Amino acid sequence: MPKLDYPGDTLTFTADVMLKRLAKYLRALGYDTFFNENYSDQQLLDFSVQDERVLLTRDNALCNATPEINSFYVKPQSPTAQLGHVAKFYPITFDESRFLVRCMECNTPLQNISKDKAAERVPERVLKRNDSFTYCPMCNQVFWQGDHTKRLRKKFLQVLSD
Ligand SMILES: [Zn+2]
Repeated sequence: MPKLDYPGDTLTFTADVMLKRLAKYLRALGYDTFFNENYSDQQLLDFSVQDERVLLTRDNALCNATPEINSFYVKPQSPTAQLGHVAKFYPITFDESRFLVRCMECNTPLQNISKDKAAERVPERVLKRNDSFTYCPMCNQVFWQGDHTKRLRKKFLQVLSD
């Protein structure tokens, strides 16, 4: 089946309350993915329609709530399988230049910060092993690529190559 066509950066998502981990994965891959567990179903629908986002949901009723909504029913249970499932229908790819450019916690685009700046915020051992750092202005947190991100990259490459 041919994948749906989304030119440039137009592929954006909202994820329902059941799909927190999937939302984080999509953010890690660079896709703008809205997740807020305090939103009601109606708020989620309205926002998805307004902002022309694909609503990812595990709730059938929500999925079919209105003909205006561009929604997708995410059948698998495990977050990894969910990512694979969504990627069968939407052009989701692993692109190194988009990997970890968005905060996995809050979806805000990360900013690069210098090693000197990072030095005030991260442990010495991290500083010794890393040269590039990013920063989330929303969460006020500094990030770097370590073993955790290596595992994520490997997982994504596996899932998205199937
Ligand atoms: Zn953040």
